[in-house]
Amino acid sequence: MDCLFCSIVKGDIPSTKVYEDETVFAFKDINPMAPVHVLIIPKQHLSSVNDVTAENSAVIAHIYEVAAKLAKELGIDESGYRVVSNCGADAGQTVFHLHFHLLGGKKLRVDMC
Ligand code: AMP
Ligand code: ZN
Repeated sequence: MDCLFCSIVKGDIPSTKVYEDETVFAFKDINPMAPVHVLIIPKQHLSSVNDVTAENSAVIAHIYEVAAKLAKELGIDESGYRVVSNCGADAGQTVFHLHFHLLGGKKLRVDMC
């Protein structure tokens, strides 16, 4: 399957990796919207939140664990941060491999919609 983030996980496309384990991969966003902008993804290909089921949802909890760990390491756990996943056209999803944006390091805008 031709998927940008699967290629990044495989190492076929370069990325600035910040974390990896058996099920999760995290790397810097190529077009950062904040001083800290990391993408945290399951290694398994899921297209979006729409693909999350009882069978595969353990990785989502793990992604939040990784988000908390990275927020601490990157020094934004106290100042605050946002973890967000865009799903589908109305949310502006552009890459159809499930990903969670970890954003922080500045006062983030509060208008979410
Ligand atoms: P979304 O709009 O929620 O689908 O987010 C996709 C994100 O992937 C955007 O913030 C892009 O800047 C980011 N992105 C696209 N290509 C790459 C890449 N090759 N390496 C790192 N981040 C990327
Ligand atoms: Zn993929």
